[in-house]
Amino acid sequence: MCKQSIETITAQAGSHLDGNKAVALPLYFSSNYRHESLAEAKSFDPHQGYTYSRIATPNRSVLEQTMAKLEGGTAGFALSSGMAAIQLALSILKTGDQLISLNDLYGGDFRYFRYLHKHFGINFDQWDGQRISDLLQKITPRTKVIWLETPSNPTMKKLNIAKIAAAVHSKNTQILVIVDNTFYTPVYQRPLTEGADVVVHSATKYLSGHNDLLGGILVCKDRKLAKEYFEYYITTGDTLDSFDSWLLLRSLKTLTIRVKQHTKNAQAIVKYLKDEPRIDKVLYPGQGGMISFYVKDEADVTRLLDNVKIITFAESLGGVESLITIPYYQTHADVEIEQRQRLGITPKLLRLSVGLEAADDLIEDLKQALDS
Ligand SMILES: *Cc1c(COP(=O)(O)O)cnc(C)c1O
Repeated sequence: MCKQSIETITAQAGSHLDGNKAVALPLYFSSNYRHESLAEAKSFDPHQGYTYSRIATPNRSVLEQTMAKLEGGTAGFALSSGMAAIQLALSILKTGDQLISLNDLYGGDFRYFRYLHKHFGINFDQWDGQRISDLLQKITPRTKVIWLETPSNPTMKKLNIAKIAAAVHSKNTQILVIVDNTFYTPVYQRPLTEGADVVVHSATKYLSGHNDLLGGILVCKDRKLAKEYFEYYITTGDTLDSFDSWLLLRSLKTLTIRVKQHTKNAQAIVKYLKDEPRIDKVLYPGQGGMISFYVKDEADVTRLLDNVKIITFAESLGGVESLITIPYYQTHADVEIEQRQRLGITPKLLRLSVGLEAADDLIEDLKQALDS
């Protein structure tokens, strides 16, 4: 086997696999697949072939194998949204179990954790991401999952996954360390290779990168865990359909080059924002296309959101088009108000997903909006 870097895995995703020798993997629209014989049906292995699309499809399987390779795991699952991937990740929890998460996460996570508490009696605690000893103190015999997101959304805190995973596992090897890798992608961060057990993505963001599909990915290492997830996955059926699997695989082919250019553009914009007297503070983790910043005067929030012309005022992130949002009223509106205040998610905080337009054009756009 030749060495396969991330660039090679993505560029060749799906190549050399089609029976008809197509270079690009064709799109299979069949919901079901025929058996050759009763004997073949009886000995059928769902990981080797196809019967029914809820279980597996050619396009989805290739996507899942590609993501497993990219994240350094053994099994991948492609789902209909990032939240569906998060639901699959937490499907192993039982009543009375405890989940400890970072306190700064995608807003929908908190809504789901509250749901799990209310309906299934899952206990939930939060950690501020500062001292690992504080996290260890929160662990009880019923702790099953440590949930992390790094860089965090929207305050861009960075965590040391390797240190956290080692500390948690030295306390209890059974605890799953789960990382949401949506912001950095495997181009900048491969949590499984640093000791995490499970990685999830909102594939809607950088993996897809074109603001044209909704999807989720889960990758895990342990084969027994993968089997448990597979059971839940094929039973509940929250799968990514063939067309979106094909589209996502196509997008992955340019993942590395996109992400690197997002970083270059974002770094140029960070430089401008730091010198801009109307901006108070810029939060940027050093890599990637996501920037959060505070304006000094709240009136500038309205000026920016109402007057940007190239940048679009819309939720979501990670696509070729630049987007600006206000987490306080949009992505994090469901987070309790005290928690938003504690984290610094204020009405003066804006989040910019820097796209692949010319950085100079984006800077000019921000300037003209602030001047209007
Ligand atoms: C968007 C997002 C999610 C949720 O994903 P959907 O595809 O919208 O369901 C989860 N985590 C992070 C970090 C996100 O940005």
